[in-house]
Amino acid sequence: MRIGWIGLGNMGVPMATNLKKAGYELFVYNRSKEKAQPLLEMGATFKESPKEIAASVDVLITMVADDEAVKDVYTREDGVLAGLKEGQIAIDMSTISPETSKTIAALCKEKGVEMLDAPVSGSVAPAKEGTLVVLVGGDAETYEKVKPIFDIVGKASFLLGGNGAGSNAKLAINSMLGIYIQGLAETVLFAEKAGIPRETMLEIVKLSAVGSPIVNIKTPSIIQDYFPAAFALKHATKDLRLAMDRAKEMDLSFPLIEKAANTYEDALNAGNGELDLMAILSYLAKK
Ligand code: NAP
Repeated sequence: MRIGWIGLGNMGVPMATNLKKAGYELFVYNRSKEKAQPLLEMGATFKESPKEIAASVDVLITMVADDEAVKDVYTREDGVLAGLKEGQIAIDMSTISPETSKTIAALCKEKGVEMLDAPVSGSVAPAKEGTLVVLVGGDAETYEKVKPIFDIVGKASFLLGGNGAGSNAKLAINSMLGIYIQGLAETVLFAEKAGIPRETMLEIVKLSAVGSPIVNIKTPSIIQDYFPAAFALKHATKDLRLAMDRAKEMDLSFPLIEKAANTYEDALNAGNGELDLMAILSYLAKK
């Protein structure tokens, strides 16, 4: 099976690397070509446009920033849709709105191509380890065909319904992530202000019922007060924004998601977008 991979950012590089290591014939494209270098050194082939890569593979995967990036990569003149042919499978693993997932799937269907939305839960470390959780929306038969791919990049995959179902699940879990990370930041700052060092408070959290694997992952950056992006704050803000949009569409009110969305939005506007979402801590500390 020839796989095409578009989008070699923080997540795309480790995920595509695992597919290459598993023995798939891999074709890659990234807007900034230099980011493809690690994959090319492993024997992947670079294609010069989304159209060219789509025309060269059996399964085409996109892992790009947001709705605009997915729409651009699929619909531009030299985009994916211009290259896809009947019988191929497209998978979008980016975190985007369910609406855009459904729109792109419908455009693919017009070309006789089944598309799955398959965003992932888990950040760069699980991406490297192949232990992401893959949240899938789309056709059941297509899911079964590409499940071996999901089994390489992830430790579990869930087919949740038709197109858009994976994106809905992803927005739901990232709402919890945004709230939890803000809660962790506030807990650590609360304790610090009361004279309890960060290290000690983090140890207490880890040993208590409210601990979670993400606390281990974020501990070094919290202690060092240094937040290089694993999951960029701009993407976390985008996800909370999309979750609020979905809540409005469903006529639901989620006070915590709304609060968190506003905090991340403010932190983004204060210039923290390229940092990790855990930089919400330093933003709140300064505030
Ligand atoms: P990232 O490091 O910011 O990389 C974004 C990728 O999208 C880059 O390859 C970028 O190309 C490409 N891109 C952006 N706009 C584009 C456009 N208009 N046309 C073509 N390519 C475009 O992001 P990431 O952390 O890998 O995340 C990718 C997706 O996964 C996002 O939807 C994110 O929310 C989601 N996600 C991230 C994590 C995480 O922990 N990082 C976890 C789960 C899900 P350039 O290199 O040229 O900029």
